[in-house]
Amino acid sequence: MSDKPEKLITDDGLRLDGRHADEIRPMKIEIGVLSRADGSCYLEWGRNKILVGVFGPREVHPRRSQRADTAVIRYKYNMASFSVEDRARPGPSRRSIEISKVSREAFEPVIMAELFPKTAIDIFVEVLQADAGTRTAAINASSIALADAGIPMKGLVTSCAFGKVDGQIVLDLNKEEDNYGEADFPVAMTQDGEITLLQMDGNLTPDEIRKGFELIKKGCKEILEIQQAVLRKKFETPVEEPEAEASEEAEGSEAEVVETEPSLEYAPEAAAVEEIIEETEELSEETVEACALNEEAPECEKLEEIIKDAEAEIVEGESIEGAIEAESEEEVEKEAFEEEADFEAAFEASFEEVSEPEEIEEPELEETEEETEFEPEVEEFAEEKIQPEEETQPEEEAEIEEAASEETFESESEIESEAESRKEAPAEQTVEEPEEEKCKGPWKVVKDPSESGSRGENDE
Ligand code: UDP
Repeated sequence: MSDKPEKLITDDGLRLDGRHADEIRPMKIEIGVLSRADGSCYLEWGRNKILVGVFGPREVHPRRSQRADTAVIRYKYNMASFSVEDRARPGPSRRSIEISKVSREAFEPVIMAELFPKTAIDIFVEVLQADAGTRTAAINASSIALADAGIPMKGLVTSCAFGKVDGQIVLDLNKEEDNYGEADFPVAMTQDGEITLLQMDGNLTPDEIRKGFELIKKGCKEILEIQQAVLRKKFETPVEEPEAEASEEAEGSEAEVVETEPSLEYAPEAAAVEEIIEETEELSEETVEACALNEEAPECEKLEEIIKDAEAEIVEGESIEGAIEAESEEEVEKEAFEEEADFEAAFEASFEEVSEPEEIEEPELEETEEETEFEPEVEEFAEEKIQPEEETQPEEEAEIEEAASEETFESESEIESEAESRKEAPAEQTVEEPEEEKCKGPWKVVKDPSESGSRGENDE
């Protein structure tokens, strides 16, 4: 252990790592780093490095740990032996058991465990490098991993500590401050500011605690913003990309649009075309339908006028068509115009077969077909996104579980019974896999281990 520094706060009021009293250490979060976990997160906070894997809701081993009315939340904090300066003794310790307990309790108010009776939600925390504040860092990472796993929660949990160093209240202690400071006060809270973890090591006056809480609020707010940004980045993308793909698909020629756009400004036909398009847009579906059923309808006059104009303009030559194509960037307008080309035929046909007014809707049907063309691609896209995550296999989970088995939740006999039941697992797993694939997504269920089938997209 390094020697105690002379001062932890320098004369200019800064801390040894250059931070002000109310500053948190830089935080970096990666989400979905473990393909075999249902949700995962890697978090660096200062020199802390934490890896979290979330599994579940899934079958409970040993079965006697099941609860009929709710999911069992299990949290296992483990410090790698190489994570600290002096080698940490492998396996559970009083400290790791305590941290596991209080951290689990920090999540219990937000996880909607009652939705998944008879299942377990397992949170495995591995501290790869420790530099004080590992429990708070682990809670922040677990919050993200739970969201990544699609576990329904009332909100995210954020955590941060304050402490007293050289008589000053400071936010987010580093190792030296933790070791040589006068107090350490870790807190976790929900998005609504409800405190779900509160511990204190050292002595503080009520005023100091009040001051510390002001810092905690600030710190947790900043952390929450980072967490939300990370989740948004991951889960907003799949929603946006299919649209982007779709727009590429529509004629797939942005370049074409770019090339033709300038000439459109000068094309003399462009104004006429735009006018026709605008007029066509003014026509409602009801007008078209009314005309299809009754030629004498007053709405028909305008419609006929537009058709005539369109015919006249189209006959004038390819230059107009080119101009129209250049409009493809504004897809709605283009579609409206294309419909016009077929419109008269459809219009006339509708008079011949009044009993089949659907024909007038042909252009709409075409549109629908165009839209459906995108669907397989959207599905493919979804599959691509899902595939890396669908690999949750019992074997790999077993590895982590086996490590866990040395610790808090399970005795040796439990491990044996778990191993036995796992032998049966592959058959079940292969059946479940497609289910998992369907459900993957932001705030969606990853898989449905509950035989009752209570877990599904609709639940969320
Ligand atoms: N630590 C250590 N060896 C141990 C336990 C802890 O070196 O066996 C260090 C580690 O850097 C840890 C810090 O002491 O982050 C503070 O530990 P504490 O128990 O206060 O928990 P934390 O602040 O990490 O939540």
